[in-house]
Amino acid sequence: MIRSTCPYCGVGCGVILSPAGHGLSVKGDPDHPANRGRLCSKGTALGETVGLSGRLLAPVIDGAGADWDTALDHVAARFRDTIAAHGPDSVAFYLSGQMLTEDYYVANKLMKGFIGSANVDTNSRLCMASTVAGHVRAFGADTVPGTYEDLDEADLVVLVGSNLAWCHPVLWQRVEAARAARGTRIVVIDPRRSVTAEAADLHLAIAPGADVALFNRLLAAIADRGLTNAAFLSHVTGAGDAIASASAEQGDTGLSPADLGRFIDLWCRTERVVTVFSQGVNQSSSGTDKVNAILNCHLATGRIGRPGMGPFSVTGQPNAMGGREVGGLANQLACHLSLENADHRAAVAGFWNAPRMAERPGLKAVEMFRAVAEGRIKALWIIHSNPAVTLPEADKVRAAIAGCDFVVVSDVTGATDTARLAHVLLPAAAWGEKSGTVTNSDRTISRQRAALPPPGQARPDWWALAQVARRMGFAGFDWDGPAAIFREHASLSGIAGRLGRDFDISGKAAISDAEYDRMEPFRWPCTTDRQGGRFFADGRFLTPDTRARMVPVTARAPAAALTADRPFRLNTGRIRDQWHTMTRTGRAPRLNRHLGEPFVEVNTADALKLGLAPFSLAEVSSDSGRAILRVIVTDRVPGGQIFAPMHWTGETAPTGRVDALVPAATDPLSGQPESKAAAVTLAPWAAR
Ligand code: SF4
Repeated sequence: MIRSTCPYCGVGCGVILSPAGHGLSVKGDPDHPANRGRLCSKGTALGETVGLSGRLLAPVIDGAGADWDTALDHVAARFRDTIAAHGPDSVAFYLSGQMLTEDYYVANKLMKGFIGSANVDTNSRLCMASTVAGHVRAFGADTVPGTYEDLDEADLVVLVGSNLAWCHPVLWQRVEAARAARGTRIVVIDPRRSVTAEAADLHLAIAPGADVALFNRLLAAIADRGLTNAAFLSHVTGAGDAIASASAEQGDTGLSPADLGRFIDLWCRTERVVTVFSQGVNQSSSGTDKVNAILNCHLATGRIGRPGMGPFSVTGQPNAMGGREVGGLANQLACHLSLENADHRAAVAGFWNAPRMAERPGLKAVEMFRAVAEGRIKALWIIHSNPAVTLPEADKVRAAIAGCDFVVVSDVTGATDTARLAHVLLPAAAWGEKSGTVTNSDRTISRQRAALPPPGQARPDWWALAQVARRMGFAGFDWDGPAAIFREHASLSGIAGRLGRDFDISGKAAISDAEYDRMEPFRWPCTTDRQGGRFFADGRFLTPDTRARMVPVTARAPAAALTADRPFRLNTGRIRDQWHTMTRTGRAPRLNRHLGEPFVEVNTADALKLGLAPFSLAEVSSDSGRAILRVIVTDRVPGGQIFAPMHWTGETAPTGRVDALVPAATDPLSGQPESKAAAVTLAPWAAR
């Protein structure tokens, strides 16, 4: 019996694995603080997803099988030669929130400290980069103030752009348990009547992108009613400007005055309020402003960092948080240190003994693949991600990867749309075979443990990265396992702590391999003085003057304007039983029974007007692509809006790649793409 962590969403549920035939049986871990034994449909079916079918078992170079030595020598030589000819910014790594923290750490160390470029970004850019930017702007660091226990102790949970019941089901179970135990009220803010919205006490079907307008209305009401917290505001700057901006807000929320009033009344009179936000907030060309509009309301009232209250970002991926901790985004350094701060760069360079430290931010995901398309990136290593399907304007991204001089893909299968374009495929150990740590949405660090041997020649990602680094001539990549990497990261975090950073797990820097093996889930920070807990109730923030920043924000429309030719707003998202591009969940028969093919939800009146019969096929097109999708006629989506899930790929449904429709418009601060507001045409599909 082995205790590990679910590899899907950012809830980070603990699981207990037991051998069962050639696979695993999986149960919820009753002792894990995130889930206390609960699992959702995806977690319950994990045992069905392990096995040899479709696995990449050996390295491949230009379509021919190879041994590891040859493949690693080849990758190192091509990266070294490219850097020599074109400079360090001609290469890039594209990583994934599926990677373990130790793997992530090695990739960042190699690129930022030794290659000398910060061109290392991650699919987490598509998930929560706007939250990171909003946190840094308000708090001075990317710190999640609260904990999951706040959901148990809240009297009001406001879910903004979050279909929690499907996308973070175990957290939803916690919220429902709180409702049963203490009468917690639930408000859902979402243009679509999702399953979560149907279960709410109040559903606010706001206009797409209207979150800033709504939270500015709330902030103005807080000020008008004299509900600002004067004592807490002594720890905050910018309140006057933010309130003035909110009071002048003209943006349309799309809500009736009655619904708007009910929400404002409920929020204002409830002290214990947690505002949970997710992709509906982050995946926007004004995502950072949306985050700050929410944070402003909590800062103005001092409802932050105390039991049952605070803003709370839930991450999509299992280790989006871990990636943030090691500097997995192109504008970060490890341990929440800043790439743009000379003291921070010097501290990291000294610790790593780095010969060539990156000195400026690198290319964020969308920019990175634009640079690939333009030939500025000539060597690219993609690890556990499928950008040919999931990035906006996915057709262009696929063409860019196909045209890149040298592409390496590390994955568990060679059959993804992206892997098929690679010059070199490296077989990676999968969940259940690899060992390391992940961090969930409430800063809890948990172990993922191996329960099965990797098949064939599959190896952990940290090992492949370290081997390439050594073959490129770099020292400092000679760990004997993930525990040694964890200790190094924990030691570096102690330096970060001394520089005033929040991410400090130096209390674990000296643990032995055996202690690492036994490590129980713990929440950071973890030092000799402090263990876990909440941040900011004491009014001390991570800014130079220790005061938080309220940021004046004004609502902006989505980047893609609706036109007579493109009159529908496309919202993309997930379904309950699939994960990302289905490379794992697609292997579980019971998960495929939920919703088995790509579809588009269309409002009843729109379907009638366009002659779209239920379950017929529709063509959805935008300036960047087209998809053929099964029509679900429903009043879950308002008129003029459609919804389509993003899971299907060129392999599973060649005409159903929804991210081909999404424009590459991004938030100016976070670089996160606007995945929920494409302007599209909808029409009955006519076979040609
Ligand atoms: Fe896994 Fe998320 Fe489900 Fe928990 S809620 S079992 S972490 S998918």
